[in-house]
Amino acid sequence: MEKILVSACLMGRKVRYDGGAKTSSDAWLAGWREEGRLVPFCPEVSGGLPVPRPAAEIEGGAGGAAVLAGAARVLASDGSDVTAEFLAGARQALAVARTHGIRVAVLKEGSPSCGALAVYDGTFQGHKVPGQGVTTALLERSGIRVFNEEQVPEAAGYLRTLEA
Ligand code: SF4
Repeated sequence: MEKILVSACLMGRKVRYDGGAKTSSDAWLAGWREEGRLVPFCPEVSGGLPVPRPAAEIEGGAGGAAVLAGAARVLASDGSDVTAEFLAGARQALAVARTHGIRVAVLKEGSPSCGALAVYDGTFQGHKVPGQGVTTALLERSGIRVFNEEQVPEAAGYLRTLEA
């Protein structure tokens, strides 16, 4: 049975920067949880950041691939450089995924770690730009398909093709 890596905040864990969760009521996720398929994970907490913590964005509106390449940093709203923690969390997410043989992930959109299609532009003004978070970029580079919480039906379809 294929397992699925999922952002811990979507599963109700209070690991977000503001101390809250982003609990998903998606029926697919509920079903997969019942089946024991879900592996909840928070890259930022696993990378060593506390809860709560200052919001963070990738500088210059760059994507996670630029951070992985050393071409952009991840900065917190207080100006501190949290790139190392984001990279550590991404590597741990990949290690956990490999441990479980995971090929599919459902991650929280817009996060500088977990975003699949969009991230914030680095100005802390609430502006999103197309791009991936650091963990998403590393997972996808490693052959793991990442979907956001609005794309769970697509993730289910992909899972079906893997299990066919
Ligand atoms: Fe949720 Fe990912 Fe942010 Fe952790 S890093 S709080 S799992 S979006």
